[in-house]
Amino acid sequence: MKFGGASLDGAESVKNVTEIISRRIDLQPVIVVSAMGKTTSRLLKAAKLAEEQEPANSYSLLSTLREEHLKVYNAFKTGDEDSIYLEKINNYFSELKIVLEMIASRKELSPFLQDKVLAYGELISSAILTTALISRQIRANLLDARICLITDEHFTHAHPKEDESQIKIRDYILPILNKGMLPVIQGYIGSTQSGETTTLGFEGSDYSAVLIGAALETNDIQIWKDVPGVMTADPDLIDTPATIKKMSYEEAAELSLYGAKVLHPNTIQPARSKNIPIHIYSVRTPSADGTVIGNKTDTAKPVIKSITCRDKLLMLNIQSGEKSSEFDFLYRLFDIVRQSEVVPYIILGSGKQISLVVDESKKSDVMINSFGGFANLGVEKNKATISLIGENVSHNTKLLTEVREYINGEGIELTVSNVSPHSFTFMVDSSRLQTIIRKLHAFIFREVNRDIFEAIK
Ligand code: ADP
Ligand code: MG
Repeated sequence: MKFGGASLDGAESVKNVTEIISRRIDLQPVIVVSAMGKTTSRLLKAAKLAEEQEPANSYSLLSTLREEHLKVYNAFKTGDEDSIYLEKINNYFSELKIVLEMIASRKELSPFLQDKVLAYGELISSAILTTALISRQIRANLLDARICLITDEHFTHAHPKEDESQIKIRDYILPILNKGMLPVIQGYIGSTQSGETTTLGFEGSDYSAVLIGAALETNDIQIWKDVPGVMTADPDLIDTPATIKKMSYEEAAELSLYGAKVLHPNTIQPARSKNIPIHIYSVRTPSADGTVIGNKTDTAKPVIKSITCRDKLLMLNIQSGEKSSEFDFLYRLFDIVRQSEVVPYIILGSGKQISLVVDESKKSDVMINSFGGFANLGVEKNKATISLIGENVSHNTKLLTEVREYINGEGIELTVSNVSPHSFTFMVDSSRLQTIIRKLHAFIFREVNRDIFEAIK
């Protein structure tokens, strides 16, 4: 069972989480937690303030965080027996102060130090949740993910060494489960072979949870969030999205690839390889069914299940120069891509002309400058994509025609720009993104099939 930051924001929500766990204790779960609320981004802010030579502001942000966390801790303290957790929490904050001082004196926030700082968010939240569980007489046992989740050395976006981690996870966690205790462990963090702390990058906690679930060959991976499940669109963008009851691994993977923040893109694979379902449940309505992600869903006809988008994109149209051969052109182009460490999000084209869609970033800028030397380059800025996701939707050309006709009628021209079987993706100008998404959502989900969707009541 994994609980995200939004589900652990303050004493009330921590209490709610302990309630949810205690009702499911017979399942012998392992608990994976994120940092509380917005702690990760606030720790990052503190680190940046230190780097930018504003140590006073950095340390005062740290004391605010300390006060807030101790307030939650104090809501659950039961006396002497949990004081080891208080000691831990206090130590973590002292260590954090030392790391911030180090950043301030070096005037540089290296990826290595950034990971050191950010990991404390999960270390602290897991200590608090353990205290809260113990206060309910649950035999919780606080673990350290850095002992079993081994990653490469890409600080700030480390990749787990999956096979090695799975063995360590089993060795570390199974004995605790076998003693009838409840393991509580941090998501998002790991360590390199030599023991340096790493983080898995944005939204990495879901990934940790799925890896742990897969390693233990559990029969259910539960990701608890503060949304009702995976929805027909981001509830922050659309007022009344419906919840999707069932999705396939493919659909969920596409959904995250094309921008839905709801699940980490790498999350799906370890579960799929062992055929373990992933449930997305809501901490607000714990008894609701949420969404289950598993093997193929058998709807008779392919349907669109969700709309998602990505913004702040650049479209690069790169045309081979007169002289170079197609092989040369492709080779040089992708060599630059590799050296720039930019992963193009969409690639389209032929041997003479390639279009790449990439995120706006410093790395992309560097890459763009390198193209200038050997090709003709056009850069379209302020681009976004909208994707319609559903298993095998691309086989349903009638559906696509219908969507196109509707949106053309609204004066918007859409060109499909990807080749996945489970989605249609359109490029649009960022300025029109919101309007188009709302229109498309209203049109596509004007009626929802109750077998597939749970409408908001
Ligand atoms: P957690 O606190 O568990 O880490 P996340 O923030 O990772 O939760 O995921 C929940 C968020 O995902 C929601 O706040 C919601 O805005 C966003 N989201 C984007 N697309 C969707 C979607 N299709 N269905 C549900 N949530 C979505
Ligand atoms: Mg998350």
